Amino acid sequence: MTGNTKKLFIKTYGCQMNVYDSDRMVDALGPHGYETVSEIENADLVLLNTCHIREKAAEKVYSELGRLNKLRQQRRQEGGDLMIGVAGCVAQAEGEEIMARAPSVDLVFGPQSYHRLPQLVSKAATERVVDTEFPEEDKFAHLPAAKKETTIARGLTAFLTVQEGCDKFCSFCVVPYTRGSETSRPVAQIIAEAQSLADAGVMEITLLGQNVNAYHGHDEKGVPVNLGALLYRLAEIKGLERLRYTTSHPNDMSDDLIEAHRDLPQLMPYLHLPVQSGSNKILKAMNRNHTREDYLAIIARIRATRPDMALSGDFIVGFPGETEADFEDTLNIVRETGYASAYSFKYSTRPGTPGAQMDDQVPEDIKLERLHRLQELINQQQTDFNASCIGKIMPVLLDKPGRIEGQLGGRSPYLQAVHLDAATDLLGTIQSVEIIEKRKFSLHGKIVTKQTANSANLGRSEEEQLLSGA
Ligand code: SAM
Ligand code: SF4
Repeated sequence: MTGNTKKLFIKTYGCQMNVYDSDRMVDALGPHGYETVSEIENADLVLLNTCHIREKAAEKVYSELGRLNKLRQQRRQEGGDLMIGVAGCVAQAEGEEIMARAPSVDLVFGPQSYHRLPQLVSKAATERVVDTEFPEEDKFAHLPAAKKETTIARGLTAFLTVQEGCDKFCSFCVVPYTRGSETSRPVAQIIAEAQSLADAGVMEITLLGQNVNAYHGHDEKGVPVNLGALLYRLAEIKGLERLRYTTSHPNDMSDDLIEAHRDLPQLMPYLHLPVQSGSNKILKAMNRNHTREDYLAIIARIRATRPDMALSGDFIVGFPGETEADFEDTLNIVRETGYASAYSFKYSTRPGTPGAQMDDQVPEDIKLERLHRLQELINQQQTDFNASCIGKIMPVLLDKPGRIEGQLGGRSPYLQAVHLDAATDLLGTIQSVEIIEKRKFSLHGKIVTKQTANSANLGRSEEEQLLSGA
């Protein structure tokens, strides 16, 4: 340790909500003398913010703990020390097991305890600590706000958790057990956080929730507010040029939310709407409470309201009982929907979920073979979508220096990475960019007419023209 400053390294696994949570841990420990370091070897405190969604994700944590144990031994031989903590969903699900399997761990705490982190860390200096309670108090109300300079250093785009937990209990999923039942943050709290992000120069916010479109907070007068209404409120904040949200459930795709995509130029035309399977038999076994027809009808409603909406999704192959015909149904729903991108996973049995008890578990080799076939189709759709963008002009938020000198990187409205030649003074602007080339993982473009003001200042019809390439 140097002086009173202690060095913190957080390794984040899993979803964007964990990325958001890791930043909150940094904010909680900052006032207590901790500053983040980019090399694990330099840390006094290492926190692993873990993911339990699939077996592989959980196992990675134990291998990392093995490596950390060696680092700690070495440190102790040199007369120093290292504190090791495990946070997140593995911590929540396997608290005591981690303590038993990994004696080097000093501290285990679940996603609802981040606001208590400074106290937990000081307690862990003298005894091993496990905190996996679901406390009554609102952790967000107790977390300190990020300092303005920290927010600036984090960049022009930011995540903002608005909803946590899930009551849907899909039969494959651990989230309702690790993150608890659904809770929504109050509107005023969200608006205040969004305002402070905008004040620090953040231009794009992605609202996060395990089931973000189930958001049901209350406004300042106690009136219930859904995600659509919340987006209208956020769109009033000056400087916030772009809004996104993820992840949504088909059953919570309300008319308000769909209409927000028609009315709000800030709301990007990209939607992550997982269906998981195209087979009604499997959807029922998954306890999804929707059919493939329901899903396709929702997609049709969305496209009728916002024709240029790009879609993304999640798929699970090899859920118990999935036959070749069920899997064909999945391939067909992908063909019918047409995705700009999508994620696909082999079913992973999660202890404690109903899926783990089901007969007819699908053999690993069949899961893998189906995964390859599905990914081939998804990759083809992504390639086709990217190819369809060539020649189009679209607003690109330039948010980072490119990997090549003289280039900047940014995002299209459809969340594609776009690179182009531009000077650094254009960082933090939205430019009209013509897409000229498709590369493996990104698009290459050129600025059409340099703008210093950004596209939110364009009239709606002008932005629509840009998006349609007219
Ligand atoms: N709430 C979102 C929804 O309902 O679509 C998904 C949240 S989950 C964190 C992200 C994705 O992980 C899921 O959409 C699903 O495809 C995948 N997933 C969850 N449990 C899984 C399991 N046991 N095996 C494989 N993939 C799983
Ligand atoms: Fe998990 Fe999403 Fe289903 Fe909730 S809705 S149980 S988070 S997959």
